[in-house]
Formats: sequence, C-alpha cells, structure tokens
Amino acid sequence: MSRLHTVSQATRQFLSRPRPFLIGERWHTGIDVIESIDPASGDAIGAFHSAGEAQVEAAVVAARTAFEDGRWRHLTPARRQQVLWRVAELIDAHAEMLAELECLDGGKLYEPALQYEVPHAAETFRYYAGWCTKMPGHTFEPSVPGMQFHGYVRHEPVGVVAQIIPWNGALVAASWKLAPALAAGCSVVLKPAEWSTLSVLRLHELLMEAGVPPGVATVLGGRGRLVGQALAAHPSVDKVAFTGSTAVGKQLLAAAQGNLKRLSLELGGKSPTLIFEDADLDEAVPAAAAAIFSNAGQVCVAGSRIYAQRSIYREVCARLAQAAHALRLGPGLDAGSQMGPLISAAHRSSVEAIVARSRGPGVEVLSGGSAPTGRGFFYEPTVLACEHADVPAVREEIFGPVVTVMPFDDAAQAVRHANDSIYGLAASIWTGRVALAHRVAAEIRSGIVWVNAHGIPELSMPIGGMKQSGWGREHGLEGLMIYLETKSVMMRV
Ligand code: NAD
Repeated sequence: MSRLHTVSQATRQFLSRPRPFLIGERWHTGIDVIESIDPASGDAIGAFHSAGEAQVEAAVVAARTAFEDGRWRHLTPARRQQVLWRVAELIDAHAEMLAELECLDGGKLYEPALQYEVPHAAETFRYYAGWCTKMPGHTFEPSVPGMQFHGYVRHEPVGVVAQIIPWNGALVAASWKLAPALAAGCSVVLKPAEWSTLSVLRLHELLMEAGVPPGVATVLGGRGRLVGQALAAHPSVDKVAFTGSTAVGKQLLAAAQGNLKRLSLELGGKSPTLIFEDADLDEAVPAAAAAIFSNAGQVCVAGSRIYAQRSIYREVCARLAQAAHALRLGPGLDAGSQMGPLISAAHRSSVEAIVARSRGPGVEVLSGGSAPTGRGFFYEPTVLACEHADVPAVREEIFGPVVTVMPFDDAAQAVRHANDSIYGLAASIWTGRVALAHRVAAEIRSGIVWVNAHGIPELSMPIGGMKQSGWGREHGLEGLMIYLETKSVMMRV
C-alpha cells in the first residue's frame, strides 16, 4: 500500500499535481509528464513535467543573460553569502517535507534523511556561503627587466554551468553542486535524475524564496539522453559538473568537446575496506556492514570490497553475515525499517544479474543473494566470500547491498588488492597501528581514505576520484575552484 497517507499535509499538497519547472520567472510544463515511483511499493506517488530541447534552450538563455548582466555575480560577496545562508535556513524550516520526499521518491529511510541528510544539505549552503566573502587570490611582484609591474591573480566564475546528478541522495547531491557554483558567482542549470526529481524541484523553490535572482539557478526535470545530453552539448554552457556512472561520464567527454567545456566528473566506485588483525572488530565489522548496506548500497563511496587479514578472515565473514541477516528491510517511512529498497525494478535486475554471474567456484554466498518476495524493489543484504578476485562482484560497481570479502596476508598484499580496480574513489583502513595506517593510506590510489571510519562526509575535505572514478574534487576550497577560472592581471606602474 502506498505510504502517501502517512506523510504531512504539505507533502501531499506538493504531490497533488505534476510539478512544473521554473525558468526565469515563468513556469513551464515541458514535453510530457514523468511519474515518480515509490521504490518501496512500486506505486506512483506524484509526477513532474519533463523538459524538452526548447526548455533546455530557454533555461540556458536565461542563465547566460543572468550571467552577462551580473545580477548575481556582481552582488557584493556579503549579499551572496546572506542569500545562500537563507537557503540553508529554509531547508531547515522545510526539513520534514524534504525528508518525506527523499523517502517516497528516492527510497530513503526517514530518520537518517531527517537527522543527517537534510541538515547536511543545509550545512552545505552554510559552508559555501562562508566562502563568498573569502574568495582567494594572490599578488606577486613580477621580475620583468627594466619594467615595474603590479601583478595579481584573481579567480572569476566560470560562467554558465550545467549540473547533472544521480538519484541516490538527490537533495544532498543537488546541494553539493548548487552551493559552490552559486558561491563562485556562476549561473546554473541543474538536471536531477528522472528517478528522484521531486526534492530537487522543492529545493529550487526554496532557492527562489531565499532571493537567488531569476535565471541564476534553474532545475530542469527530464531524461538524461535528452535534457542531460542537450545541456552537455550546448555551445553556451561553459562547464558541465556531472555526478553519475562512469559510462555516462565518458559519453560527456564527446558531448562537451564542441566548445571545450570545462568538465568535472564524480563517477563510480568500488571502494575497499581493509581490516587488519589488530582492529577492534566490535567497531570495524558493524561499520563495514553499514558502509555497504546504508541506503541499500546505493552510495558512491560504499565499501563494496572488504579485505580482512587472514587470521581474522573467518571471524569477519561470520560477523558480517550475522549483521546482514539481522537487517530489517522495509519502506523508509516505516519506523522499524533498517534498509530500504533499490531505486527501480531495472536497477534491481542489474544487481541480480551481477550476483548471478558471480556465483561459481571459489565464491560462497554467506547471506542474501536474492530478492525477497513482495512489493517494492528490495534486495537482500548479500555477503559473498571470494577466494579470488576474478569475480564480477569484485570487479564491477554494483550500487546495491552486495559486498565481497577476501583475505590478505600482509599490508603489501592489502594495498595490491585495494588498488586492483579501475576505480579510485574512496577506501577505509581499520587498525590501531598509526604508522601502518599512514603508510597504507599513502599507498592507496583513491581520492579519500578514512582510518577507523568509512563514508563520513566532511565539507572541508575534498572528495572525488582517481583513475576512472572521475576528474576534479567537490567540497572544501577545491570544490569551489572547479567553478572558477584563473586570471592574471599585470599592471605596469
Ligand atoms: P547515471 O550515469 O545513469 O545517471 C546520472 C545522471 O546522468 C542522471 O541525471 C541521468 O539522467 C543523466 N544522464 C543519463 N544519460 C545521460 C547522457 N547520455 N547525457 C547526459 N546525462 C545523462 O547514474 P545513476 O544510475 O543515476 O547513478 C548511479 C551512479 O552514480 C553510480 O555509478 C555511482 O557510483 C555514481 N555516483 C557517483 C558519486 C560520486 O560522487 N563519485 C556520487 C553518487 C553517485
């Protein structure tokens, strides 16, 4: 049964008609309507209007006009800061509705959405609001023989930015994109994923309410191959910031080449969790289980490959299987649920297919391995003990609640296993030995390494991918710099 009757009146009201989208000061209805499906039941819970090429054109023109006339980038930094801070306050004020939309549309658990994700989205706007008044730059004394110059290096907004995001954690992903780009002074057109658009449309309304001028930020609902592709290829877009699969990220290279757009890519991962024999297993194993089973494994930095030192390998396997068995699956809006569904039937089929291909010699299914019967797109938390790495579940990103466990003998082998992937997004190391942790952290080829933790987001710490996990970094000063161009000015004095 649909959980619509359990949500607030404000959310029901929001869902009562297909959501249009706003370009400049005009509401649009686009080319057709896409239904929003509750992945916990398979029921339609709302709908949104989907943009076509004409609306992409209108949104880019609006963004370009806003950028050129400077209605946002020429505001004082203090004023931009104030507006972004106000966005954060409005997110906090509408936390219940945003969390409900994340559950109904994106399959999230309600409490984590309300307690962590919505506040984190607000905090992202506060964090980058602070950077508006601290925009870096520097001065040099040039050494031109016989001439005196005053030289300075300034950073300027890159221009019109197209932002394309995935469905896992739509509100947070949108905030991670919008806040730094707006702090930098850019104009933005953002396209959420068609499977979870509603909370981002609501966020757009809050941006407008906070005082982001018309045309500066637009959210366009629509299909990737139409809206995403058109934005990426548009000659008046200066930069594409993309988060999603490595396969689509590679397609964007071709789309962006017409005008040599700047491109930042936050792509897939296959992040290792290394558990050394001296680790506190009471901490490490529950954390390793949470690293893969939170959000049903639909997390870019999910710890999907666990490597445990041989002396504790069997113990780690047994404890992981126990943790997986104990998880209660259910709709995010039900208080007792500990793991929600996958986003769609199609995505669940792809998870099922990888697990099916992974069965064979040297692979033991310790828990899960199939979809439960009943409604919704649930998949059992699955632990696969693997004797070797030649298994699809070890190699391929699954983006579901499936983890492989393999043994290692020493730190050198642990590092070889960790780096044996085309991806390089994140990793965690579990040990009490400080020197070992530093040594291994330095050897792992990934954008972030946690020691005795996994998946903790921190806005001041850059995050992003090495190897095929992407280009560029989000968060921190680096996350602002991807929206800035560098200009040198040499003034003869
Ligand atoms: P996806 O690549 O299928 O889609 C991402 C977005 O791209 C969606 O908005 C989609 O509509 C759009 N899109 C699809 N085809 C397009 C095209 N041809 N041109 C332009 N846009 C197009 O990814 P997904 O299935 O929505 O998300 C899961 C993937 O995202 C996983 O690989 C995951 O690792 C990755 N991800 C990475 C990070 C990170 O920070 N590195 C964070 C979250 C998710």
